[in-house]
Amino acid sequence: MQFIDLSREIHHRAPAPFGHPPISMGVWNDHSEVKQAGATRFTSKSYFLSMSDHSATHVDAPCHFNPDPNAPSIDAVPLENFYTEAICLDLSHVPLKHEITVPEMEEALARSGQEIKPRDTVLIEMGVIKRLWGTPGYLQDFPGLHVDSVHWLADRGILMFGVEAISPAPLMEPNYKAHLACAERGITHMESMWNLDKLVGKGRFRFIGFPLKIRGGTGSPIRAVAVLDD
Ligand SMILES: [Zn+2]
Repeated sequence: MQFIDLSREIHHRAPAPFGHPPISMGVWNDHSEVKQAGATRFTSKSYFLSMSDHSATHVDAPCHFNPDPNAPSIDAVPLENFYTEAICLDLSHVPLKHEITVPEMEEALARSGQEIKPRDTVLIEMGVIKRLWGTPGYLQDFPGLHVDSVHWLADRGILMFGVEAISPAPLMEPNYKAHLACAERGITHMESMWNLDKLVGKGRFRFIGFPLKIRGGTGSPIRAVAVLDD
């Protein structure tokens, strides 16, 4: 069994998407301060964290873009939705800022030799980390899904899809259309993932990515992991 880490690091001032506060992280106490309890002397270290519920690798809750008061927050989404079977589609060849079309999704699926089953998680490798990590383009030049491709995934009964970019579709209108389509179709997605290139050609695998139990959360950071059989 092999575990592939699909999450980005959480750290002070990590790249944050437009419209969300950045991660602020600092020392709360450290080993320079000697404490005492009774006769026991010790030191300890801990940090404080302040961040958006859409920080780093995260999943969006249905209530993020669905104004219906009954749309679930992240703490109300069944845990089963985050422990699924999964496949990864290779769309790493598409140009930056491109909106991936349905024929391109169909071609990538055929090339993978896999099928999409109901309740699957579908990860989509677009070469974002390879091409853009560490550059200003990471926050603005990424490709993503055309809204029709979001509907195409929903038509196949998936639970969620995931991308390395900070958004499921290119910035501004395509991004909001993709989010609204997810809300309308009752599916969701993960953003700011990592290592998706390592899943290309690996067939069907186990996906695990549990959210934190944030009361009323509109999303949550996740430790996303692919588990491959030997
Ligand atoms: Zn989102």
